[in-house]
Amino acid sequence: MGIERIGVVGAGQMGNGIAHVCALAGYDVLMTDISEDALSAAIKTVGKNLDRQVSKGLIEAADKDEALRRIDTTLTLTDLGPTDLIIEAATEREAVKQAIFEDLVPHLTPDTILTSNTSSISITRLASRTDRPEKFMGFHFMNPVPIMQLVELIRGIATDADTFDACKDVVDRLGKTSATAEDFPAFIVNRILMPMINEAVYALYEGVGNVESIDTSLKLGANHPMGPLELADFIGLDTCLAIMNVLHDGLADTKYRPCPLLTKYVEAGWLGRKTKRGFYDYRGETPVPTR
Ligand code: NAD
Repeated sequence: MGIERIGVVGAGQMGNGIAHVCALAGYDVLMTDISEDALSAAIKTVGKNLDRQVSKGLIEAADKDEALRRIDTTLTLTDLGPTDLIIEAATEREAVKQAIFEDLVPHLTPDTILTSNTSSISITRLASRTDRPEKFMGFHFMNPVPIMQLVELIRGIATDADTFDACKDVVDRLGKTSATAEDFPAFIVNRILMPMINEAVYALYEGVGNVESIDTSLKLGANHPMGPLELADFIGLDTCLAIMNVLHDGLADTKYRPCPLLTKYVEAGWLGRKTKRGFYDYRGETPVPTR
């Protein structure tokens, strides 16, 4: 089945990036969110990021206009029913995602493929609550979507070969590279990345280093392009905590217990760049460590 129309649920930092790359690859995109502000901010961000690509000579100005023309928005989730592929990129909470799929199911065409951009939640469990577990899989982009090359493709226990192939074709058409992961908590990238970030928060919590020394150590000592705390702020501390909870619950191993300091930052609403405060304070000209 050819995929031409893509529905994107959630217009946050991932949703706008997904809409951007899909529209640029020639797909018609319909994006929805519960917040009108999130939808208008997303369109603004896509425009700004496309401008940056034009100024770097990566795309032509006409490509930008064409991509923006291909993105429509709606506040009505069920408008996405007739699309060929739905990529859900709403908040990382299982109850939120489950409710979205439940609401969508009665409005889908028989062939619509359902996917989730979840960083950690069981694809098999999300799929089992829909009418089409064989047409359901994980479609996990990395942040920032227009720049990062990888898409993890995660097969649930019931995902059929046609669905997998159709999603792989989409990744190819986006000019990205797919890696296949089995459906275990947090898949590959976050199974390895999040415990490292959580350990960096423990190092901060226990006073082994401060924000600056921890980030400098990993950047200069391990050749990471970003320090782990800077990266955590970039991902969103609520998302990091949610992923650690999924690892902890799903694998029942104490080595995955979320650091209490990470929980405290999330409780404070200090979620990183998106709220202008996390391990760094972003409200001024340059980020200032908060510890
Ligand atoms: P975000 O907080 O930036 O955006 C989430 C958006 O979902 C918000 O705009 C919110 O209004 C919207 N939303 C909430 N409930 C909704 C509903 N019922 N219907 C429609 N929209 C709804 O979060 P994000 O960072 O874009 O993450 C989205 C998803 O992508 C999560 O599953 C996350 O795990 C995953 N992800 C995040 C990253 C990352 O680095 N942030 C990387 C890969 C995958």
